[in-house]
Amino acid sequence: MNASLSFQLSVIDFYTTFQYLLQYRSSDYIELNPDSYIPDTTVFCPFHENKETKAAKLYGKNKEDQNQSEKLYCFAENRLYFPHSLLSPPKNVVDKSVLFQFKSIIPYDPNWVFSAIWNHLPDTEKDYWKQTNPSLSIGEPVKKYGGLYREYKEGKRDLFSILKELS
Ligand SMILES: [Zn+2]
Repeated sequence: MNASLSFQLSVIDFYTTFQYLLQYRSSDYIELNPDSYIPDTTVFCPFHENKETKAAKLYGKNKEDQNQSEKLYCFAENRLYFPHSLLSPPKNVVDKSVLFQFKSIIPYDPNWVFSAIWNHLPDTEKDYWKQTNPSLSIGEPVKKYGGLYREYKEGKRDLFSILKELS
């Protein structure tokens, strides 16, 4: 998969939510309740020790916003986070300055999550993403996983059961 990290993160933030990704939190974060991450409510910040008073606000996807992703603003840290902030750092990155944004709450790295999403997108949606990012070189679709995609679309599988199969 040749997509750049920034492209991968855009796709991840578009298709996932805090609530969805937090289902896959590592055991260190088991006390976080994914169901409480409801858009446009105040929430406990998952990125720092926050247990008493909810220190963050989760903003839902806004259609007028080009990126259309959830955002979490932590008042205590004065920081803005995205769903991808929950992931573990990517491997083999040349530019180490990007690593700080990955907080390792989910034990999956961006390439893994991106691949699981991308390999199961309909061609029309892939075309849309390629058109918005014409300079990107993206790998060929992996045909042997076509059956998995069908099961995913029919709701027989979730994304991360597919992930496990691909890895
Ligand atoms: Zn925080």
